[in-house]
Amino acid sequence: MNRISDITLERIKAAVGRRGFIAEPGEMAAYLKEPRDLYIGQAALIVRPSTTAEVAAVVGICAETKTSIVPQGGNTGLVGGSVPFETGDEIVLSLNRMRAIRAVDLANDTITVEAGMPLAALHEEAERHDRMFPLRIASEGTATVGGNLSTNAGGNAVLRYGNTRELVLGVEVVLPDGQVWNGLRGLRKDNTGYDLKQLFIGAEGSLGIITAAVLKLFPRPRATATAFAAVAGVEAAVELLGIAKRESGGQVSSFELLPRIGVDFVLRHIPGTRDPMQARHDWYVIMEMTSGRAGDELRSTMEGVLGEGLERELVLDAVLAESDTQAKDLWKLRESMSESQRPEGGSIKHDISVPVSLMATFIERATAAVEQLIPGVRIIAFGHIGDGNVHFNPSQPPGADRKWFLDQWHEVSDIVHGIAHELGGSISAEHGLGRLKREEITHYKQPLEIDLMRKLKEALDPQGIMNPGKVV
Ligand SMILES: Cc1cc2nc3c(=O)[nH]c(=O)nc-3n(C[C@H](O)[C@H](O)[C@H](O)COP(=O)(O)OP(=O)(O)OC[C@H]3O[C@@H](n4cnc5c(N)ncnc54)[C@H](O)[C@@H]3O)c2cc1C
Repeated sequence: MNRISDITLERIKAAVGRRGFIAEPGEMAAYLKEPRDLYIGQAALIVRPSTTAEVAAVVGICAETKTSIVPQGGNTGLVGGSVPFETGDEIVLSLNRMRAIRAVDLANDTITVEAGMPLAALHEEAERHDRMFPLRIASEGTATVGGNLSTNAGGNAVLRYGNTRELVLGVEVVLPDGQVWNGLRGLRKDNTGYDLKQLFIGAEGSLGIITAAVLKLFPRPRATATAFAAVAGVEAAVELLGIAKRESGGQVSSFELLPRIGVDFVLRHIPGTRDPMQARHDWYVIMEMTSGRAGDELRSTMEGVLGEGLERELVLDAVLAESDTQAKDLWKLRESMSESQRPEGGSIKHDISVPVSLMATFIERATAAVEQLIPGVRIIAFGHIGDGNVHFNPSQPPGADRKWFLDQWHEVSDIVHGIAHELGGSISAEHGLGRLKREEITHYKQPLEIDLMRKLKEALDPQGIMNPGKVV
């Protein structure tokens, strides 16, 4: 990496104007560390352009001077992709001033927004037009559209609507040489060669800077049914999902797994939560169905699914939310699952996926292997089982030394990722590679795939200035 000269920094500052950069160390701090404090970096400057032209001007100067750029949205990414290295030889380019709505086309069911728009603001805008944008993640108040695209974010409704990749029709991108590609097409059909926008979705800022996107809008649901069910095991949960999909005709929007020990953590540490059932059970699911039609039809569909589940002894007990407040309380158990692990000590995080049909095998094998390595470890396996994606988080044995436990991170991850890989799975289902998994992925992807990724990187960013050291 080149040291950035004062002349270069002055040119960048001039390109964005006084409001467009931060150089004061105190104000820079928030842009330099990521949510889990895994990485705390340094930067020569934080740049905050307000238009695509300004982004292009900054990137043009960086290309000319071989200056490395770290694109940043809401900085909620969990793999260190949005923060600079410790050297101070990079600039952070934050999109947080670019949050305009460029167009709404209701007949086409699309909205065109700038990359720095927070996801929650996009939800509000869609609702104002009686539409819905289905990407739902717990970080949506801060995470931005540009970050969502760059990480191909998943979340709670992938089962029905797909990942972010499936919600995008067009993008505008500033390429690593400063050229602007205007690919803001709102077409659902366009078979004219390679689908270039998909290159930038999930690229974690390594191929260019997304400045705007055309996104799909959907009808706003008029009815929602939410159930919390104790199930006989993970395999039973998967069977129940099959019944729900069949009986509802594709109306299942979320299907999330919760282990008892995770529920115990939530009840212990999160105020205002309570166990919806009298008896304790080992596994639960939270299931949501939505429909564009108001009325009680959906509720009776859900009752039918739970009834069949009970009859076949897949479901042991179930609660159906009677109101929005009750539904929120049930969801709180799921949404507090990450937060509630912190007060329990060290936690080794994994974000794996396997085919839904192998979910039970994965959890069984990975649990046994980690328990053998660390007796007394507490396995919290929870999340998007309907997409074959769980967060498999071994939590330290009660009373054990936190550092001793976390020192075993790599050994534990090798076991967990090895099993996921053997079952045809992925070591990063949602969060990407960033800096955290950049090396590790080379053990799991075929050399040919890594080679193709490197060739793409070299073709688009031959100087290697776009988020270097991340992804590939
Ligand atoms: C509490 C919590 C819950 C979460 N839940 C989920 C979940 O359910 N599902 C899920 O998928 N993720 C989840 N995440 C992870 C994270 O919120 C998502 O990855 C989100 O999409 C990141 O958006 P961001 O704007 O914060 O991006 P950032 O963190 O700023 O950046 C992420 C990556 O994208 C790049 N980038 C950002 N903006 C641009 C741009 N405009 N152009 C090019 N590159 C860019 C960055 O360089 C970085 O590599 C969660 C995180 C937290 C803290």
